[in-house]
Amino acid sequence: MEELQSAQTLDDSLGKASSRAKTAVAADDAVVFLINGDNAIAQRVGKSVSFPLTGSSIQKVLEAKNLFLDNSIGKLAGFYDVRELYTEGFRSVLSLPLVSSEKIFGVLTLLGREEKFFDDSKISRAKSFSLLVSLAVANVILRGWLKEKERLNQLFFEDGSSAILLIDEAGKIADANANAKKLFGAIAGRSADDYFQSNSFTQRVLEKKLNSIEVQSSNGPKLFELRASISQDKKSAILRFIEAGDVEKNKVVYEQVSEKSPDVVLQLSADGRILFANDSAAELLDYTKKEFANMTFSELVFQPDLNIVNDMLSELSGGATVSKSAVLRFSSKKGVQEKFDVAMRGVKDEVGRLSRIVLVAREVGARSNMQKQFLDSVINYSSDAVYSFDTRGVVHSWSQSAEKIFGYPRDTIVGGSVRTLFPQEREGELDEMLRVLNGKKKLASIETVRKRKNGELFNALVSIAAITDESGRIVDYVEVVKDVTAEKKMEEVNRIRRKLEERNRQLMELNEMKSVFISNVSHELRTPLTNIHGYSSLLLEGEPGPLNEQQNEFLHVVVNETNRLTKLINDVLDLSKMDSGRFKLVLKEFDLRDLVEKCSCKSLAEKKGVYVNWNISPDIPVIMGDPNRIAQVLINLISNGIKFTETGGVTLTATRKTRNFIQIDVADTGVGIQFADQKSLFRRFYQVARKDGQKQEGTGLGLAITKEIIRMHGGKIWVESTPGSGSTFSFLLRTTQRKQRIKK
Ligand code: ADP
Repeated sequence: MEELQSAQTLDDSLGKASSRAKTAVAADDAVVFLINGDNAIAQRVGKSVSFPLTGSSIQKVLEAKNLFLDNSIGKLAGFYDVRELYTEGFRSVLSLPLVSSEKIFGVLTLLGREEKFFDDSKISRAKSFSLLVSLAVANVILRGWLKEKERLNQLFFEDGSSAILLIDEAGKIADANANAKKLFGAIAGRSADDYFQSNSFTQRVLEKKLNSIEVQSSNGPKLFELRASISQDKKSAILRFIEAGDVEKNKVVYEQVSEKSPDVVLQLSADGRILFANDSAAELLDYTKKEFANMTFSELVFQPDLNIVNDMLSELSGGATVSKSAVLRFSSKKGVQEKFDVAMRGVKDEVGRLSRIVLVAREVGARSNMQKQFLDSVINYSSDAVYSFDTRGVVHSWSQSAEKIFGYPRDTIVGGSVRTLFPQEREGELDEMLRVLNGKKKLASIETVRKRKNGELFNALVSIAAITDESGRIVDYVEVVKDVTAEKKMEEVNRIRRKLEERNRQLMELNEMKSVFISNVSHELRTPLTNIHGYSSLLLEGEPGPLNEQQNEFLHVVVNETNRLTKLINDVLDLSKMDSGRFKLVLKEFDLRDLVEKCSCKSLAEKKGVYVNWNISPDIPVIMGDPNRIAQVLINLISNGIKFTETGGVTLTATRKTRNFIQIDVADTGVGIQFADQKSLFRRFYQVARKDGQKQEGTGLGLAITKEIIRMHGGKIWVESTPGSGSTFSFLLRTTQRKQRIKK
């Protein structure tokens, strides 16, 4: 890439690109390396360090065609350039390929002083940015290359008969045209001063102090007129050696020079026959050289444009020697070839008559086409949406990823306005970004919102760069848009999760406070209740003196209500203990038969006139559990059975289900429970509504506590019922064998 060295602004532009990448990723340093394939040398721009690629991390990037990441550089890092970074105080390095036309032409290296500096988000930002760096660098290279090419083409065309030499900044002869090679021999690579045997040859050329020179040719010394085109930086020059040669010789030179040209080059006789056509003519217009030889120029021109050609030809045959230019269309075998810039120049013979015409045609916009293709090849490399648009906001290029992300196929957006990609309320953002860029201020990437074809808005990370022409004028803008919707969503999910966790923590705290409060209040209530119950019972027993019938009746009500209240307080207290984890089982072995005897609620059943039976299978083993809590369960189930049974009674059956479980069924012949209510019975405060609309007796807490006690014993409880003919509550209990499995 000799072009690299010749472009004066390249270092500058690389410096800018790397410093922008540095700010975008918030890295501690950033460097752009350019790869010179021939010499296998990478240049560290700014510091102009060059080192062989072999064994470097840059080579690793080239081989893997992918990024290189080392987040904990050690003293003995595997690559010598990375080892060097360690001594410079860096601990993390990320190198990304700079790619054009699938070729890596450089590497962007970002550095961090901390270990583990490059996380996923930094890497993804760096990837987006490496693309902009590629564009910036590619643009400079392309610009330099086009400029050079145009300059040479122009010279060749203006003066095909002269020998041309290109002298570079080092004073070396960098290139020579065929004519020069013929005249001077193989001189490329030699110092111009040496060759022309003058210490100040180059200097005098650059100062435009040399107008003619004598050159030793095979036919003896020859005097040439010397014309120099000096580069803008006054360091290199293109030299033309002009000699009054014969026509035949000129013809050969023309053919040699024009053969190489990417433009269509034709030689015509004075009457318009095609004498010569170059390779580009054959390729672009699709005729063989033989076919050209039998054609006139008029046949080649798209008929409606013929008058333009005739005007040009008549002006030239009128003795004119100046070049004439016009825009023409050609008829090729492939059909009409859209527009060519055409220039003609008359060549006179010895007696001053027009002998032939040299014609050069260049596709209009070939240059911008080339630039477009070049940019396209860079932008299609990215998984981010990349597109370019001009100063009017007209979209010029559109990457495949842009199609995917925005939903617009290339054809539907190229030529349209870039503003369609902005949500209405953000239209001002474009002008603001361009204003900043036009003011040549640095523009870091911004987080914003863009609009897809289907109208959907998405979160985007946007970077924008300006593409300038040789005079530094902005011709295009390139935008890289990263769809960060998924990242944003993750952030949002995490935010909500954190909020929920916080809420949960608060709720748990409140719950704990509530449990403590309830257990305190319950304790406080129980003491006076015990007294009320005790003294009322004493009065009923007639201890302090006899009671009349009404006093007796009223006191019975007091004792009953006190019992109810005590049960309610005990239930609430149990639940609050369960909630706060303070409800503890006191486990021991017990015999179910003894327990059932005690819990049979005989007096309650007698009062109601229903029976309570039990049938305990002889193979029921000793149970391991908390006998007081199991008694609570049995009392609750049996008393419920009695409560909801008018005729018949309650039967308890205990059977051995498996080696480890026994099942206890408490079946009644009562009202039964509607299916819809069955599931809810075990919920706190749930009571089945009574048909007569009266308030149900009880608290609705009994079954909730029962279920929890069974669960703590490692068992489970359920109900089966047929409304009108009774209910059966069943639960499983573990036998002693697996006592270690009992939950505490
Ligand atoms: P309570 O202390 O109010 O009885 P429970 O939790 O023990 O509370 O019972 C909740 C509700 O379940 C009762 O109000 C009743 O409607 C229904 N229920 C419980 N056992 C039976 C049963 N054996 N037959 C019909 N309904 C019942």
